[in-house]
Amino acid sequence: MSRHAANPLKPEPAVIKAIRQETYDTTTYTMGFREGERANRFSFEPGQFNMLTLWGIGEAAISLSSLPGGNGTFDHTVRSVGDVTNALRRLKVGDTVWARGPYGTPWPLKEARGRDLLIIAGGIGLAPLRGVIQAVTSRRSDFGKAELLYGARTPADLLYTTEFDDWRRGGLSLTLTVDAVPEGARWEHNVGVVTTVMDRATVRPGGGVVMVCGPEIMMKFVVKELLARGFRPGEIFVSLERRMECGVRVCGRCQFDGRFVCRDGPVLPYSDIKGRVGTML
Ligand SMILES: Cc1cc2nc3c(=O)[nH]c(=O)nc-3n(C[C@H](O)[C@H](O)[C@H](O)COP(=O)(O)OP(=O)(O)OC[C@H]3O[C@@H](n4cnc5c(N)ncnc54)[C@H](O)[C@@H]3O)c2cc1C
Repeated sequence: MSRHAANPLKPEPAVIKAIRQETYDTTTYTMGFREGERANRFSFEPGQFNMLTLWGIGEAAISLSSLPGGNGTFDHTVRSVGDVTNALRRLKVGDTVWARGPYGTPWPLKEARGRDLLIIAGGIGLAPLRGVIQAVTSRRSDFGKAELLYGARTPADLLYTTEFDDWRRGGLSLTLTVDAVPEGARWEHNVGVVTTVMDRATVRPGGGVVMVCGPEIMMKFVVKELLARGFRPGEIFVSLERRMECGVRVCGRCQFDGRFVCRDGPVLPYSDIKGRVGTML
């Protein structure tokens, strides 16, 4: 039995191996467990998350934002919004954080094989989908069409901009939009919320899988538009975010309608949550 299976609540030390500033408030950390059997082969699927612990400060649920690295490494992309995430920002390469996981349900990548894939992301919501994009662009022939519609508040809020060309070369069609362009900023793509570019998608109902992640209000309107275009609730997948503490279906903090976001989610088919999550449709 692995150490993780023996005590799923026990964080283990992970060393920060690289840090990349994505935007003014968001940073990607590449980490690896320092010791134990997981150090060289930590395994997870895109969509799952870890609980990151900073002793004396707190814990936060953070999505795995990459595919597993060959040497057991994994990425987390973190927006500084509160206690843990601001403290993380002060850490340097070589520093240690504590992590436990992986938890939760993954995106349905296996089900998407051989089918078209439409990814719709808003802001930091692209982080849990980056591993999906890495999988699709590295195994492009396994999938049909691969399209990403990505929206952010301003051009300065877009994540992973240095990877966009690689993603395009890997066969991903990328449509970008921002809510607003500050004066003087350069921007040659769409202006408007992400629903304003949904007509540019060529993936059609019945042929594929749709993955949606972003602020809940954004997901609500995206799902509404998808349903209006004939997509069935079972082919739309969303990732829910709730405040959570244990991550393993014990504390009950993240419950909705008898389910636990930490264990039954965060990735769920829309057919499972339709009418059950207050703020969603
Ligand atoms: C499954 C999952 C995956 C996630 N993935 C990511 C990710 O990849 N990247 C990322 O940056 N974030 C992610 N998050 C969000 C992240 O867990 C939260 O933003 C977390 O609160 C940050 O912890 P913190 O200690 O820095 O912030 P906190 O100190 O918890 O504060 C965060 C914000 O919440 C407010 N807040 C504090 N307490 C409460 C409360 N009791 N009720 C309501 N609001 C409160 C604060 O005012 C602040 O605005 C994810 C969350 C979930 C559930």
